[in-house]
Amino acid sequence: MVRRTEQILKARAGKVIPNGMYGHQSVRLLPESFPQFFNRADGAYLWDSDNTRYLDLMCAYGPNLLGYREPRVEAAVARQMALGDTMTGPSPLIVDLAETLVAMISHADWAIFCKNGTDATTMAMTVARAETRRRKILVAAGAYHGSAPWCTPVPAGTLAEDRAHLISYVYNDIESLEAAAAMAGDDLAGIFATPFKHDAFQDQALADPDYARRARAICDAKGAMLIVDDVRAGFRLARDCSWSTIGVEPDLSCWGKSFANGYPISALLGSDSCRAGAGAIYMTGSFWYSAVPMAAALETLKILRETDYLEHMARLGERLRSGLAAQAGAQGFSLRQTGPAQMPQILFADDPDLRLGFGFAENMLARGIYMHPWHNMFLCAAMSEDDIEFALTAAGAAFADLAAVRATLKPHPVVSAMMKSRAAHA
Ligand SMILES: *Cc1c(COP(=O)(O)O)cnc(C)c1O
Repeated sequence: MVRRTEQILKARAGKVIPNGMYGHQSVRLLPESFPQFFNRADGAYLWDSDNTRYLDLMCAYGPNLLGYREPRVEAAVARQMALGDTMTGPSPLIVDLAETLVAMISHADWAIFCKNGTDATTMAMTVARAETRRRKILVAAGAYHGSAPWCTPVPAGTLAEDRAHLISYVYNDIESLEAAAAMAGDDLAGIFATPFKHDAFQDQALADPDYARRARAICDAKGAMLIVDDVRAGFRLARDCSWSTIGVEPDLSCWGKSFANGYPISALLGSDSCRAGAGAIYMTGSFWYSAVPMAAALETLKILRETDYLEHMARLGERLRSGLAAQAGAQGFSLRQTGPAQMPQILFADDPDLRLGFGFAENMLARGIYMHPWHNMFLCAAMSEDDIEFALTAAGAAFADLAAVRATLKPHPVVSAMMKSRAAHA
């Protein structure tokens, strides 16, 4: 496949953008054929810069929850666009949106809006410290909470001091959580947890309810804040905070990515337990009050309450999961499919340098299905049973192709080196 526009764009980007692209949307750690640039998106599909169409199982890394350009959300956006977006003060929509989220999210009594998940997680840490007047924050090793100096996974340019008061623990491991809390002593400000373990390059793991309850109990005993980072999983597990599914209420929850169906807004929600801390801090941004993303959020949240979007995504995810397992088995492969079916992580068993995963993703891409070889994927509500059948038909052929070329697959140089060094450190 000749992708002329893509090649020209990549050459131009290489001159004016560091590394040609940055962050999670750089294709540097993806198979060779993965496109870097996209012209447009609609429903469950996206089109690259050469106008090749893909069924998109990444959903913009989460923000696409209802389908790209969902008509009701787009109409709400157009109405607000005509009135104003970024103004000298917020529109009344900010009050509507805070009321809506406080009504939907059981633990929440107040809301602060921002732009990115990193804003919300960083503000959660700041509120926890302001509320408790303490320093130590417990964070699960390997968990992603954003790209600020305290949490970025690549430490270049950051200081040990940026993380001086973070103590790491092992997700789902009660003993290590207790040891970390003991180390914090009477200086514990808060405990961070993602709703389930969704770290890149690894199997996902649902939260052990005993671990979640223990985190809550430690915070209660020590007067510390429990923080659920729902930026990635928010509204893909529940119409409430994701830990409502296991009956654990945090003091603070972080939201982003999906709740305005792709429009730029994130939120920190809190309980009365830390209202004073939230009132004490100063964090803000030029675009934190913009009205258009709030209009998008209000309409998105309305659709979440009115439709079976969640049950629909879970049903399609289960169909995809069982179909792939059967097809892989028929060709002599074994898959490790972990996490909620609507946020699947799909890795091959016995694939330490990910060459099978890369080969499969590349083959699927050529058949019009965009899948990720090492990051969890996302379903969206715009996907249909026909879309899943389209993906499974492609997968049946892709597994057969993969079996035929299995012995000749080569590992991706950077990724395989990374996997080796991770295995050595494990
Ligand atoms: C994506 C993500 C963030 C950071 O959100 P940004 O909008 O990229 O700043 C934080 N926490 C989790 C769990 C995420 O998945």
